[in-house]
Amino acid sequence: MTEVVPGIYQLPLPLPNIYLKHINTYLVQGNNEYLLIDTGWNMKEAFDSLKKQLDEIGIDFKDISQIVITHVHPDHYGLAGRLKQLSQAKLAMHLIERDFIDSRYINMDNLLQQMEQWLHINGVPTDELPKLQMASVGMRKFVAPALPDVILRGGETISIGSFSFKVLWTPGHSPGHICLYEPTQEILIAGDHILPTITPNIGLHPQSGSNPLGDYLNSLNIVKPLSVNLILPGHEHAFTGLQPRVDEISQHHEQRNAEILETIKAEAKTGYQVATEITWLPEIAETSWQDLASEDKRIALLETLAHLESMRFSGKVDKVSKDSTIYYQPA
Ligand SMILES: [Zn+2]
Ligand SMILES: [Zn+2]
Repeated sequence: MTEVVPGIYQLPLPLPNIYLKHINTYLVQGNNEYLLIDTGWNMKEAFDSLKKQLDEIGIDFKDISQIVITHVHPDHYGLAGRLKQLSQAKLAMHLIERDFIDSRYINMDNLLQQMEQWLHINGVPTDELPKLQMASVGMRKFVAPALPDVILRGGETISIGSFSFKVLWTPGHSPGHICLYEPTQEILIAGDHILPTITPNIGLHPQSGSNPLGDYLNSLNIVKPLSVNLILPGHEHAFTGLQPRVDEISQHHEQRNAEILETIKAEAKTGYQVATEITWLPEIAETSWQDLASEDKRIALLETLAHLESMRFSGKVDKVSKDSTIYYQPA
């Protein structure tokens, strides 16, 4: 636990066995009440860690009056149901994220079928299909779902004590992702929109919207002009230098687009074929495609598709379909 600025605590919670290692939740002090931003996985290690850190601050779950979720990925939303019960806090999230709760965490069959079809038309070989289709099902156990009491659309102000956070709708990493901006203190609570060294995963999938990378780059331009002293991200560490980091991330995606365009110069390829040919995260770059975990393969494929579709939107790439499979080629 660190008090990153007076009245705002960063409470990192463990994410065992994944390379991100932890998620940062943030606790904001009001007048005898607290706002919690994001929650961590619904698992013993994360829950115990949160409880211990609240103890250190000297508060109880019941002192939390509001919980805001930046987006409903399991690492940010997992404990929401339990914490809502324990605290009686009002749970708030963007409307679009609310609409994912049922299909991802309650009635999942429909989305799993859509995913199978999606992977199939994008060139995943039949023998790999079941594993890639089911790659995120294991995450379900880390989520205790709860519906929000407060629906956000962007533009609202969330007040607690002397803090007034403006809700910024920043679609891209997830279609209903939000950041919270405190203009007086010049603080940006960034969720997974901007991280200090990792580029957040942007994937094209049945619920992503048609051009998530385009949405993401537009959302970077929403935060870029803000006057920000300190960025409080959902992973890694607090940092400064918003504008240079935004430029770095934009350049990264441009380079990635160029690299991907190169792979389809000679012949049209499926998203899957392209994904197997390009380099991946530094952590897994040394690993050959066949040795990647199914989760990583799927993330890699969906990221590749997001790049291909963003280039299609900007007129650099065409999509052709043959034998119910989608191929991409230079325009
Ligand atoms: Zn996320
Ligand atoms: Zn995250």
